[in-house]
Amino acid sequence: MRLATTLRRFELETRPIHPDTRAALDLRWAQLPEHVKTPNQLLGRCAVGCEGTHGVFPKCNLTCSPCYHSADANKVRIDGDHTVDNVARQMAYLRKIRGPRAHAQLIGGEVSLLSAEDHAQALLAMRAAGREPMSMTHGDFDDEYLRDLVLDADGVPRFDKVSFAAHFDSLMRGRRGAVRPHSEAELNPFREKFAQMFVDLKRDHGVNRYLAHNMTVTPSNVDEVEQVTRDVLEMPYDMMSFQPAAFIGDDRRWREDFGEVTIDAVWERIERGAGHKLPWQATQFGDPRCNRSTVGVRVGAGFAALLDPEEPKDIAARDRFLDHFGGMIFGDVPKPILTVKVVRALAAHPGDIAPLIGLARRVLRRAGGLARVLREARRGKVSFKTFVVHNFMDAAQVDPAWKLMEQGLVADDPLLKETQERLGSCMYAMSHPESGRLVPACVQHSVLDPIENVELRRLLPLPGLRDGAEPQIVARPSGLSAVRETGPARVGSI
Ligand code: SF4
Repeated sequence: MRLATTLRRFELETRPIHPDTRAALDLRWAQLPEHVKTPNQLLGRCAVGCEGTHGVFPKCNLTCSPCYHSADANKVRIDGDHTVDNVARQMAYLRKIRGPRAHAQLIGGEVSLLSAEDHAQALLAMRAAGREPMSMTHGDFDDEYLRDLVLDADGVPRFDKVSFAAHFDSLMRGRRGAVRPHSEAELNPFREKFAQMFVDLKRDHGVNRYLAHNMTVTPSNVDEVEQVTRDVLEMPYDMMSFQPAAFIGDDRRWREDFGEVTIDAVWERIERGAGHKLPWQATQFGDPRCNRSTVGVRVGAGFAALLDPEEPKDIAARDRFLDHFGGMIFGDVPKPILTVKVVRALAAHPGDIAPLIGLARRVLRRAGGLARVLREARRGKVSFKTFVVHNFMDAAQVDPAWKLMEQGLVADDPLLKETQERLGSCMYAMSHPESGRLVPACVQHSVLDPIENVELRRLLPLPGLRDGAEPQIVARPSGLSAVRETGPARVGSI
């Protein structure tokens, strides 16, 4: 009996695609609008999409323009117990609906205002639900905080890998040492210092990293995207993600005409900075009006995209991969189990081996050949890089479009119809276990955050609301780091 159970468990663990993943992917595909069911679509074929937390720590201690947090966000106290409980609940619901594995962002305010211990517990809760967590931060914290987060009280790593997305751009206000930056270049030492903390962590404790660099783009800094790309490519970031600003969140922080910056305009500048065309059409997450991305290998100053949309053999290899391997979980799987999974997948589709090897050869050729790759690898100049542009929508269009969707109505107005099409194909969802819903991040920020934060203000009021009050404690001393403060609370402060 025990042998039969063990064998059944082994069969399931080594099955190339977990049945819950298969079911979640099939459901995702079935629910996608027809216009995005294109051959390059990844949703429902190899991914369910990204996920994010909400309402778990709304507060932030910088003042950026624009800011996607609602006007009440800074009137909600940070509370680690609230954070961890709600993160666990939201992730459990995502596990139920979207299967055993997805990437999820620990997001909603400034994550480093949590004590290191609470932050670690939130990450562990996400991992327990099969999520690969990424902490979203402004990056203005010290090495001591990072180490307290990653290491336990005995100095032993509690994670073998951590992922952070750090937001750096000149629209941000209040960073220590760059309170009011006048250019993007002024932030380069801060970008470097942030990434270096993780390099040092790997050196000292063997903890791996995945680092994303995020930049909000408005008319005032769009022409700096090219140089930021050039500069950040020399730093140990794995992903460069750019977000053209949208009119979402706190309208007191809207200072420019964000509509002037288009997804194409940003991508062109990224390409100029990278010094290469960055072909993105071979794959798509959701609607192309929402986002585009490409992954490739940087070899020296060159870049080889993993897929060339103009090369039919690459496209054929992509299709085979999506048809036969899409949904296979590679992360956090013990190597022996992963090996058996891959062997089982290849044994079921032996005809895939040659096209996939052919793809690897073409990537190598695009990178300048094996000798060059080995030479650059010896200099530490070979790394995977991902480029992303994510184009959030304005609250003024999301709100009415969503209200109609809630009533099952398709909008007549062309802009609202487009908005509904994009929301229906959304690749970035937030979880509402209490109402049994997943909602697009655009809806969360445009429609739901303001309502949620009114309630959170009641649930987690700030201590002291008068001038001269004691400094607000924004992180509880349950972690190993010293308590961090944001200065005296003021009536009407944001
Ligand atoms: S609907 Fe909004 S959150 Fe979803 S993918 Fe599009 S822009 Fe992103």
